[in-house]
Amino acid sequence: QAKRQGGGAHQTIDLRAAEEDHQRNALEQELRAAGSRGQLSLVYQPIVRMVDGSVVGAEALLRWTHPDQGAVPAATAIAVAERSGQITQVGEWVLARACRDWVAWHRRHPGRRLDLSVNVSARQLMAPQLPAAVARVLATAGMDPAALVLEVTEGVILEDNGRGMRVLHDLKTLGVRLALDDFGTGYCSLSYLQRFPVDIVKIDQTFVVGMGQDAVTSTIVSAVTRLAHELGMTVTAEGVETEAQCHEMREVGCDLAQGYLFAHPMSARDLVVRLA
Ligand code: C2E
Ligand code: MG
Ligand code: MG
Ligand code: MG
Repeated sequence: QAKRQGGGAHQTIDLRAAEEDHQRNALEQELRAAGSRGQLSLVYQPIVRMVDGSVVGAEALLRWTHPDQGAVPAATAIAVAERSGQITQVGEWVLARACRDWVAWHRRHPGRRLDLSVNVSARQLMAPQLPAAVARVLATAGMDPAALVLEVTEGVILEDNGRGMRVLHDLKTLGVRLALDDFGTGYCSLSYLQRFPVDIVKIDQTFVVGMGQDAVTSTIVSAVTRLAHELGMTVTAEGVETEAQCHEMREVGCDLAQGYLFAHPMSARDLVVRLA
């Protein structure tokens, strides 16, 4: 009896694993065609200056509208792309689309500063040909490299120090800027700030949420901000949702912010309206 139950449970697990396998393979296949079927799009979340709330940039975020499943979370889409070796194509699609949108905004609002942030995953950064691809996309779109910010995570930097580091330096040579995304969620070592050629530090939402709630978080964020400033970096608060969080981040000297308090991610067209 017990043996049969055990066998049954085992079979259930196997079936679930097989089902998950099947779904994953299906997603991988569907992602291959998603671009040409118009299922991929980008939304942009405004990045504001803390002192006056003016929009000085926007972060491009991938959206995949699956015909049956609806909105696939960005993190899932990226994970599927990485696992199935499609990240280079997807990443280039994102970059090209975002640069074209930036050029369109720039035409509508010439002389106005608007930085474009684009996320780059760990796998993308491990490809030595990434800087050449970025250079090509920038040239094709006619975008000013100085307006482009590539967001990388600490993981990237830790995984393969030598290779990732070289790519980061090659990217800097192009004149683009680098942001350290989700700062504080990884190993959170302050020494990384000095070791890596980043221009912007993005304080992760988990820290922003703790601001004003517990003294330790406020002390850490304050110290990170001070150090980043001493190193000549800009500090951005991620996922700011409340006035209180905004106030606390401003108090510690944070420069820029993004979050639902200011704006949700929006279409390229809505961003143009917002800029007007
Ligand atoms: P991220 O780069 O840290 O992006 C910020 C995420 O926080 C976005 O989620 C954004 O919609 C969300 N967010 C913004 N403000 C708030 C807020 O006030 N509260 C809360 N709770 N969330 C907020 P999203 O769009 O689901 O993207 C998730 C992650 O997927 C991104 O995190 C990024 O790591 C990755 N990702 C998105 N698009 C791309 C892409 O084109 N390429 C790559 N490589 N990764 C991407
Ligand atoms: Mg980001
Ligand atoms: Mg982030
Ligand atoms: Mg994040």
